[in-house]
Amino acid sequence: MMRVYQWLQSHHHHHLSAALMAVAIVVLLLSPAAIVAVEDENSNSRSIISRFQEYLRINTAHPNPSYNEAADFITSEAKSLSLDSQILEFVKGKPLVLLKWAGENPSLPSILLNSHTDVVPAEFHKWDHPPFDAHLDPSSGHIYARGSQDMKCVGLQYLEAIRNLQSSGFRPLRTVYLSFVPDEEIGGHDGAEKFAGSDTFKSMNVGVVLDEGLASPTENYRLFYGERCPWWLVLKATGAPGHGAKLYDNTAMENLLKSIETVRRFRAAQFDLVKAGHKAEGEVISVNMVFLKAGTPSPTGFVMNLQPSEAQAGFDIRVPPTADVVSLERRIAEEWAPATRNMTFEFKQKGSIYDKFGKQILTAFDSSNPWWVLLEDAIKSANGELGKPEIFPASTDARYFRELGLPAIGFSPMANTPILLHDHNEFLNKNEYLRGIHIYESIIKAYASYVEPTKDEDSRAEL
Ligand SMILES: [Zn+2]
Repeated sequence: MMRVYQWLQSHHHHHLSAALMAVAIVVLLLSPAAIVAVEDENSNSRSIISRFQEYLRINTAHPNPSYNEAADFITSEAKSLSLDSQILEFVKGKPLVLLKWAGENPSLPSILLNSHTDVVPAEFHKWDHPPFDAHLDPSSGHIYARGSQDMKCVGLQYLEAIRNLQSSGFRPLRTVYLSFVPDEEIGGHDGAEKFAGSDTFKSMNVGVVLDEGLASPTENYRLFYGERCPWWLVLKATGAPGHGAKLYDNTAMENLLKSIETVRRFRAAQFDLVKAGHKAEGEVISVNMVFLKAGTPSPTGFVMNLQPSEAQAGFDIRVPPTADVVSLERRIAEEWAPATRNMTFEFKQKGSIYDKFGKQILTAFDSSNPWWVLLEDAIKSANGELGKPEIFPASTDARYFRELGLPAIGFSPMANTPILLHDHNEFLNKNEYLRGIHIYESIIKAYASYVEPTKDEDSRAEL
């Protein structure tokens, strides 16, 4: 109390009400009822964290994810929340858990909260704590586990948010679905892709999808409205073979190296745009060389006095949906793999940036998309701050929903967190995890209560 009194004296009168508030808080904290409330809150947080740890301890890493164990865990959580649950098995051994929180008006388009249950493998010896122990560091509050950021956090935060909304007495107007899908990390073909194309999905009448985003090292949460499209390119060079001692033009190696230099100049120019802050990571075309294949094998390695007749290089290219793909294709044919240098090229994968209606696969992030506006408002009203809308630099399952013409927004509530997905020592701080649950409460509440304005209200708003 002494401290508060001194503080009062040394400040101007406009701080008076704040000071009185501080006194009130001190008094409140000292009351027995408040102490009990704080203890309840603590034990509640502890059980929330231990449920998160339990999910993280299920080893769902490729190539042998424990999908059934994860499905059992999710199903039992769903039971504790009285949610309808079913297992969809589009491919044997790859269960997709679909949960349903029925809305009071099931005729309205529903909300789908998607997350994947699989995680990428971890190199155990490079982690400070084993990747499937979900070790909680008592001093920092960090929870170390593969999947702590990508994206078991989100899947379980949805459920915890629903738990809190239920105990507050909230009832959804729209139906809320939760899908826990397999195989995202290996392309999602046996998971989200089959789900999005299924009759079950059609019958759900989904109006909007939430899926994963990325951690943010700053205070601002990140929202994603699209993602880059992978083009996996192989450049092939051929040339006359010859003695390793002879200098001559047009060898396969020389032809390939010229192309690699050209690709590297393009890569540097794109990267410069990011470094200079002119473009975000998801807005440029990234190109990274992922393999080199050349040389004539010998029992001890490679033949050293022979210039080979063939050489190849592979590139992982990521194309933003806003890119000029015609000019990129021309660049590849004319500059990266010119026939004049005996070069050819092949795509191992080449996704389209357009949907079947010929439109760029993007979710609108202006007032034409009420779900975007609702999401931003819901995050802000839960005291979250937001950065500029972004294009996701890699691929997620959201594309399967966007391809259907549905709005899909990428969001993982992790602010002040280094981006560690697929990295060693992936972690999420427990307080950040708990804060994310409150953010989702706000979002789910706003989404599940949303009533579209009638034509009348719309025109009034325009006046
Ligand atoms: Zn992910």
